Amino acid sequence: MNRLVDYFISLVEIDSESKGEKKVAEKIANDLSEMGAEVIFDNAHHSTQGNVGNLIANFKGKINKTPLLLCAHTDTVGPGKGIKPVIKDGLISTDGSTVLGSDDKAGIAQIIEAIRRLDEEGYEYAPIQVLFTISEEIGLLGAKNLDYSLIKAEVGFALDWNGVGTIVTHAPSLNVFEIIVTGKEAHSGGSPEKGINAIQVAGEALGKLKLGRIDFETTANVGNIKGGLAHNIIPKECFISGEVRSHDEVKLEKVTNNIIKTFEEVAAKYEVKFDSNVFKAHSSAHVLKDFAALKIDKKEEIVKIAEQAARNIGIEPKIEVGGGGSDANVFFEHGLIVPIIGTGMNDVHSTNENIKIDDMEKVTQWVMEIIKEYSKK
Ligand SMILES: [Zn+2]
Repeated sequence: MNRLVDYFISLVEIDSESKGEKKVAEKIANDLSEMGAEVIFDNAHHSTQGNVGNLIANFKGKINKTPLLLCAHTDTVGPGKGIKPVIKDGLISTDGSTVLGSDDKAGIAQIIEAIRRLDEEGYEYAPIQVLFTISEEIGLLGAKNLDYSLIKAEVGFALDWNGVGTIVTHAPSLNVFEIIVTGKEAHSGGSPEKGINAIQVAGEALGKLKLGRIDFETTANVGNIKGGLAHNIIPKECFISGEVRSHDEVKLEKVTNNIIKTFEEVAAKYEVKFDSNVFKAHSSAHVLKDFAALKIDKKEEIVKIAEQAARNIGIEPKIEVGGGGSDANVFFEHGLIVPIIGTGMNDVHSTNENIKIDDMEKVTQWVMEIIKEYSKK
């Protein structure tokens, strides 16, 4: 029997789509308590409408040092209910009807197994703070609402990436924008002269936008458009939402502002006059800064620890730039230096999601070495 694999399987068999992590979190909390950790839940779910808070487990360790943070998230994306893992030829996947949930339960299993093995070895490690966040997949909600007064660590790792030996030090910031173009409603056949078609205004503005990859570190997208009531009504409103990502905050703001300005300028050209009144189209925008960029210097001690730990077990570390946001972005805003490392998971957020048992094992050894290297310094 393989304890690591068995534990991983026991986790993925418990449903935990975002906001519904309670059952799996309680199991993990029990197991961590039995391992001797002090386990605390915060009240993040009061803000996120989930059914359980973030889980924090403190392992005292045997040496006097600031604790090392080891993180993963307890939620999965859908379809994630009734997961039936299939093990074949050293690969764990599903029956094809759900995701596997190795994102991020592989990380949870690896952290817990690494600590179990160090305990069995009698290794005298530094204090460890294990943090399992909720609702990462629906906007990093656990990390955003975490009770940071409970976090004594300053550095650590989030196990939430693909590959083995991969270390993510940079990830972009994200702006989400919502634009409402307002025109003027009128009967399309009876009095088209009295209308301003909001969909047409939006369409003209959309045609002027540069979307997709803007430069090597910036992307932009329009992902949703809604408007109009019926074919015989000139639509009064058109709603557009999208996003801009960049590793550079100045570019992030510039590209976002350009998009908003384009809608305003196009809208300003449209007006109708009748009954001695003038009606103008207009555009209003709302921008939500979803998360700031993750920017960790490759020369940081914690990055060196991960690299050395990988080499200790014959894995060549690889520093990568992430394209999305994760809890680590939010931690970074709160002054925590937490690179993201690979767990070996593949094809996540799809029903083809899978992980090799060998890779799960290697990452577990890597985490053990990381704890050892951190404890030595
Ligand atoms: Zn994840």
